[in-house]
Amino acid sequence: MIRCIGCGVLIQTEDQNKIGYAPPAALEKEEVICQRCFRLKHYNEIQDVSLTDDDFLKILHGIGQSNALVVKIVDIFDFNGSWLPGLHRFVGRNNPILLVGNKVDLLPKSVKYNKLVQWMKASAKELGLQPLDVCLISAAKGIGIKKVMEAIEKHRSGKDVYVVGCTNVGKSTFINRLIKEATGKGSVITTSYFPGTTLDLIEIPLDDGAMLYDTPGIINQHQMAHYVDKKDLKKITPKREIHPKVYQVNEQQTLFFGGLARLDYVKGGRRSFVCYFSNELLIHRTKIEKADELYEKQKGDLLQPPRKSYAEEFPSLVAHSFTIKEPKTDIVFSGLGWVTCNEPGAHVVAHVPKGVNVLLRKSLI
Ligand code: GDP
Repeated sequence: MIRCIGCGVLIQTEDQNKIGYAPPAALEKEEVICQRCFRLKHYNEIQDVSLTDDDFLKILHGIGQSNALVVKIVDIFDFNGSWLPGLHRFVGRNNPILLVGNKVDLLPKSVKYNKLVQWMKASAKELGLQPLDVCLISAAKGIGIKKVMEAIEKHRSGKDVYVVGCTNVGKSTFINRLIKEATGKGSVITTSYFPGTTLDLIEIPLDDGAMLYDTPGIINQHQMAHYVDKKDLKKITPKREIHPKVYQVNEQQTLFFGGLARLDYVKGGRRSFVCYFSNELLIHRTKIEKADELYEKQKGDLLQPPRKSYAEEFPSLVAHSFTIKEPKTDIVFSGLGWVTCNEPGAHVVAHVPKGVNVLLRKSLI
């Protein structure tokens, strides 16, 4: 049995599209890395692999059988899209959970961490999770790492630790940080070997003989990331602090977010919409009555992503109608960004590709 030194998965050489694939020649090396980790490491490319729900449930079930601290990582920019539902049910009510919000570096500097932590606690509760504690970090920038390490030490009280999260939340970056902080070595996950266990986990020994386990990420199919190509994914994934764009909108106006999503403002008087998206995503305003025609003509050109090369195959947009009843509400386009509407009473229609989630939530900022 050979495991990938990057993600811990069992290596297979048969199916390129399945998790753990490595070309046969790679097996001759001392340290084997799966194709997915290889691409991520060398080309910064994200590759979809299918870890079946069954495999993932098996892993979670394994955690449920043990007495451990669960560290659950979410991407704060894509909170709902990166949420793993039903964690308590699978990992057992008794295992304490530490909720970690990653990528805080993307949020405007004006955001108060205390308020954000409160928001995360309230949102977690609504989603059926009662974490022991909530931490905010930027794994990439090294913000909050010491604090989260202290929290882990405090809450694990000698027990093992399992780190869980869906793909792309920054779990590997986080674990590499932990190792770096703890050992002074950089990027150990993709450069050295930790023997795995039977559950596709990477084991990292802790000081007192307990283990920290990195579990594979599960893919959330409702995120925009699965509908765009790699080049466009780079465009819609924010790299640095987001600068919100404020639009004063009139009734019957529409905002296009590239060609990926659209928000029709149907009724509710002149008001402002605050848009939180990657700074590189172009927002285009038009009238609702012209929107369909514009989209037909300009998808892949003025309205992109999607780029022209796959604009034709891009799934058609589906309309979701909402009436905003609460003040300070976010209209969330899963994995793409959100629009904050400060006053209640707006009637809007959000359009997203078939399969992508759109939802309302209490404003994050
Ligand atoms: P994993 O799939 O959960 O292991 O995620 P990775 O660690 O591979 O990270 C996924 C993507 O998120 C990469 O493009 C990282 O550069 C990025 N990323 C990770 N941590 C942070 C962070 O703290 N801030 C920002 N802005 N990006 C991050």
